[in-house]
Amino acid sequence: MVASDRLRRSLRRTALTWLKRCGAFHFVQSSDWRRQRLLILCYHGISLEDEHEWRPYLFIRPQLFEQRLEILRKGHYAVLPLGEALERLYRKDLPPRSVAITFDDGTYDFHHQAFPRLKQFGLPVTVYLTTYYSDLQCPVFSLICSYMMWKARGQGSLNLNEFGVPDPVNLASAEERQKAVDQVVEWADKEGLTGEQKNLVAARLAERLKIDYQAIVQKRILQLMNSQEVKQLADAGVDFQLHTHRHRMPRNEDLFRKEIRDNREKISSMVAGKRTHFCYPSGAYRPEFLTWLATDGIVSATTCDTGLATAESNPLLLPRLLDTTGRSDLEFESWVNGIGHFLSSGKRARLAFVPD
Ligand SMILES: [Zn+2]
Repeated sequence: MVASDRLRRSLRRTALTWLKRCGAFHFVQSSDWRRQRLLILCYHGISLEDEHEWRPYLFIRPQLFEQRLEILRKGHYAVLPLGEALERLYRKDLPPRSVAITFDDGTYDFHHQAFPRLKQFGLPVTVYLTTYYSDLQCPVFSLICSYMMWKARGQGSLNLNEFGVPDPVNLASAEERQKAVDQVVEWADKEGLTGEQKNLVAARLAERLKIDYQAIVQKRILQLMNSQEVKQLADAGVDFQLHTHRHRMPRNEDLFRKEIRDNREKISSMVAGKRTHFCYPSGAYRPEFLTWLATDGIVSATTCDTGLATAESNPLLLPRLLDTTGRSDLEFESWVNGIGHFLSSGKRARLAFVPD
């Protein structure tokens, strides 16, 4: 972390501590200003093992997730189902302190780690499910390559020629690892490999990296939930919504709409009901997407841009708060009560994973 970031964090912590002590947290939390706003929380994964050390902005520890739920409980936040929250937002009929919880992608850890905790706290949740990997039952290729290279970061320099990486990779360097992952993914796509073939490549890469691939696969790290798990959670009240079939947003309208259609059909084969809520994969959007989404009957779309939603927010460009490992409880609390809005620089969140 550079010195200016450290200083900013330290100033923020001091300011928040002081604001909490002097009653400003409570003041904003109970204000009409906050009542007119909805905070949509965005999560990706709750670690099965050490994923939060690999990507701290995408994964958090189970214990940290529990702490967040405890803050919501203690602060008497009204955690609403996403559909109801949005209806009430635009009807200007939100209860005080409203929050909605969303998870992107639908990786297996949601089933194993997040859902049992949400159930224990009695909280509703929406999962934006990407579906290409639902029936493949192997880890998402680009992610598992990145994860395994990170796990092998102590192994020095390695030649990965056979995977389409021309130069030796210094595994200690995050930058070199990312470059190598991009090259492997590009090579696999150029070769026209299927999902199953990519899985064999990942297994071979694991061997080269001296990693136990079977153990990773068995733990279901970086795998999507399967149809049965999705059904089971839907029966238990989890709301499943759209996130594209292949986790990508083609710039061509026909391909873009095919992504939505395939995603919708796949989810419909698992869960009854109509799906009209969408989340942009990787938080990336373009102006033309809004028209295409509206044509396909999408009534809301969430981004990874930071902020609270108001009745004036464009329903197809809703901001959220991406909760990450680096966010302290105090900072999280400042966002759910609303203070965070006043201390935010309005920066866009970091992107989620690179489309496969
Ligand atoms: Zn995603």
